[in-house]
Amino acid sequence: MMNPDGAPACVQISQFKIRRSVLNLPEMQSSSPSSAALIDSLRSALGDDAVVTKPEDLLVYECDAYTLEKNLPNVVVLPRTTEEVAAAVKLCAAHRVPIIPRGAGTSLSGGVLAVTGGVMIAVTRMNRVLSVDYRNRRALVEAGCVNAWITNAVKAKGLLYAPDPSSQPACTIGGNVATNSGGPHTLKYGVTTNHVLGFEMVLPDGEVVWLGTKPDGGEDAEGCDLRGAVIGCEGMFGVVTRVLVKLIRAPQAYKTLLGIFESVDAASQTVSDIIASGIIPGAMEMMDQAITQAVEAAYRFGFPNDAGAVLIVELDGLSAGLERQTARVVEICKKNAAREIRIAKTDEERALLWKCRKRAFGAIGRLSPNFLTQDGVVPRSKLPEIMRFIQATSQRFGLRITNVFHAGDGNIHPLVLYDERDPDQVRRAVAAGEAILDKCVELGGSVTGEHGIGVEKIDFMAKQFNADDLDAMRALRTVFDPEMRCNPHKMFPGSKRCSDFAPRKQAAA
Ligand SMILES: Cc1cc2nc3c(=O)[nH]c(=O)nc-3n(C[C@H](O)[C@H](O)[C@H](O)COP(=O)(O)OP(=O)(O)OC[C@H]3O[C@@H](n4cnc5c(N)ncnc54)[C@H](O)[C@@H]3O)c2cc1C
Repeated sequence: MMNPDGAPACVQISQFKIRRSVLNLPEMQSSSPSSAALIDSLRSALGDDAVVTKPEDLLVYECDAYTLEKNLPNVVVLPRTTEEVAAAVKLCAAHRVPIIPRGAGTSLSGGVLAVTGGVMIAVTRMNRVLSVDYRNRRALVEAGCVNAWITNAVKAKGLLYAPDPSSQPACTIGGNVATNSGGPHTLKYGVTTNHVLGFEMVLPDGEVVWLGTKPDGGEDAEGCDLRGAVIGCEGMFGVVTRVLVKLIRAPQAYKTLLGIFESVDAASQTVSDIIASGIIPGAMEMMDQAITQAVEAAYRFGFPNDAGAVLIVELDGLSAGLERQTARVVEICKKNAAREIRIAKTDEERALLWKCRKRAFGAIGRLSPNFLTQDGVVPRSKLPEIMRFIQATSQRFGLRITNVFHAGDGNIHPLVLYDERDPDQVRRAVAAGEAILDKCVELGGSVTGEHGIGVEKIDFMAKQFNADDLDAMRALRTVFDPEMRCNPHKMFPGSKRCSDFAPRKQAAA
């Protein structure tokens, strides 16, 4: 389905238009006899309480945390076991119906949007920590297990699961695997792929496979690293059901500093200077003035309302040497004209500081009815430049843009504030977000640091990758999902079908 000008067709879903990629999957019609038969079979296989079909119940699943685009799935299933996931997936395969894997729905890029309906498979009932192997420092968890629950289960033994997205009290490990999530402590500890040893996945035809290290296996799995290929695939290769994660020993000591600066520029320069000095903090997070004020109004930490920016720097590791590193960071902050530097005196103070940072998005409700969270990356040394560009973009589009982000990674999160009741504001918010991402690419960065492409950034893939790169990624996808039924209409502009790749292979042979 193409417009006369050759552009992909658009389906009006909410106030904003979504680009529907050109797949030939049938759109699921809730009222058709075939759908009724599928729903009956799903009820027989999973039980009545695990199959949601009433429109008012389906509303919960119309979008994720990217609220610009909305559409209802036809059915949501809530399986309790891998066998139930496999049974549901097999039934959908028999009916050639799209499946959309879902965790907690905290995606900020529309990753779980049911673009043309279909059956959403929400794994939230599969939420247990199944076993912990303290000797080998591993935990086997179900895909719907909430990220923070893993650390909660092992912290008494001095262990933790390192990737800590700010959404960690809600997001699931399955969603983390699908988006290769990071978080404030990514700077030192890496992202999900560095902490997941292996996982079980139900392929789109219903076959259950285990990729990577098995729960009773050695550290390195034999063969190609299919585990690595699937992590970050945004739910397009199958439904992850169980995950074997690595646990690390909690640092012996922390030093958590709060630097208060007159400007974002000065705070950004401090980030570059700390890394250039050879120190790798556990985390370096920045909040600009607007967000600091909102967070202060919400959580009363004691942030000064007139600060241009605040920078949280957390150093961790062995106690020996930490004081020396702290002194060096203080010196660098002062060199960049920090107005004040505070060091958390107690564990409670440190916890409160992190609570403020991790709940910053929640405080935005005080500033605006809606906000669009952008997620881009620039080389750290370009932080001052991108921050100036964001300020200019805010003026150009007449919308407030505030910033809270993983500064140490150069992973920016400009929050574009708008009111969805005003279509012109919606249009300007989207345009402002796109201008910022274009600038990230121009500065040698990327259009996503951790939130994924979803539906939101489909058009940016072609700006960041050339046609051959995109074809290679699509070809990999078709190995797992030849019909492209699993989470369709995501990531790839104008997705092709498996058969599109066959002639090329033959020609090469
Ligand atoms: C306030 C807030 C703060 C955030 N902070 C961060 C942050 O610091 N770092 C970060 O990386 N992200 C962050 N995010 C984004 C989001 O939380 C992450 O992308 C998270 O990993 C999504 O997990 P989820 O369980 O909510 O997955 P969902 O939103 O349900 O799904 C996300 C994607 O994963 C797929 N998926 C989900 N479960 C499965 C499964 N079992 N099998 C296969 N595919 C699956 C879905 O199809 C979709 O493509 C934040 C979001 C919010 C709202």
